[in-house]
Amino acid sequence: MKIDLHCHSFYSDGTQSPEFLVQRAAENQLTHLAITDHDCIAGLINLPADLMGVSIIKGVEISCGWQSIEVHIVGLFIDPDNIDLIHLLESQQGARRSRVEQMHKKLTELGTNGLMGYLEALPAIAYTRSQVADFLVEQKVCKTKQKSFKTHLAKGGKVYVAPDWCHLEAGISAIKAAGGLAVLAHPGRYPINKTTLAELVTAFTDCGGEALESRYPNIDLKMIKQIETLAEVNGLYLSAGSDFHTAAAHWTDVGKFPGLETSNKKAIWLHPKWQGELPI
Ligand code: AMP
Ligand code: MN
Ligand code: MN
Ligand code: MN
Repeated sequence: MKIDLHCHSFYSDGTQSPEFLVQRAAENQLTHLAITDHDCIAGLINLPADLMGVSIIKGVEISCGWQSIEVHIVGLFIDPDNIDLIHLLESQQGARRSRVEQMHKKLTELGTNGLMGYLEALPAIAYTRSQVADFLVEQKVCKTKQKSFKTHLAKGGKVYVAPDWCHLEAGISAIKAAGGLAVLAHPGRYPINKTTLAELVTAFTDCGGEALESRYPNIDLKMIKQIETLAEVNGLYLSAGSDFHTAAAHWTDVGKFPGLETSNKKAIWLHPKWQGELPI
């Protein structure tokens, strides 16, 4: 395991600093780490291109709407000063803020006060349901984070508010405007069947998407094969990432997922945008 191109810091819903993520990557002997916070690039500001022997790739994970579902697009090698990207992320952060404000209102009506105050005390720039779940556990409204999603935050839950994300096409366009490479995150985790996943990958490719994540924690061999076939058919590269959020979830530790073989002809390090050494 040498690369990890998907992880979160406390600027979105991770629990650690960007520096901690890099240190963890160094401890786990990674050569490359991409920091990809939800709709936010604040964690990239003070990071050098190389730290503790790890090449740092500037990234982001954008929540997008496609048909009736929500899909996540990771952007890699992005220019954080690009104005189109900045505008899109500001709009997404605004949608996130208004979503949690509506949740705050619903929670207050149910007798639990203080969500916005709790969120504002965090280092986070992008608010997600993950931090709302932490608040519900802290307030003893729910016993665990998992239960918070089940009873309160998932579709149909007590304080659920439908998201208002940018369209898939707009998300990919912003990444490309910033010189980045768009990757469809965790394709096996969307609530769609095989046919619809193939349609999603076609739409993603038509919009200028260039890679699919084919390695991440808990992916099974059948899904790896399905994704590799979709990549082959659509001429896409393959990426890999832990989706690390917290050290408490050891199964998603930085770099912890089945690695891409160094001989893989579609591996993302063969993309022209790849910078620095190959991870072999
Ligand atoms: P949002 O983007 O605001 O809808 O928040 C989604 C985030 O919540 C994801 O990025 C995950 O980190 C987290 N999440 C989603 N579902 C669950 C779950 N069932 N248990 C724990 N965390 C979850
Ligand atoms: Mn998350
Ligand atoms: Mn995601
Ligand atoms: Mn993620």
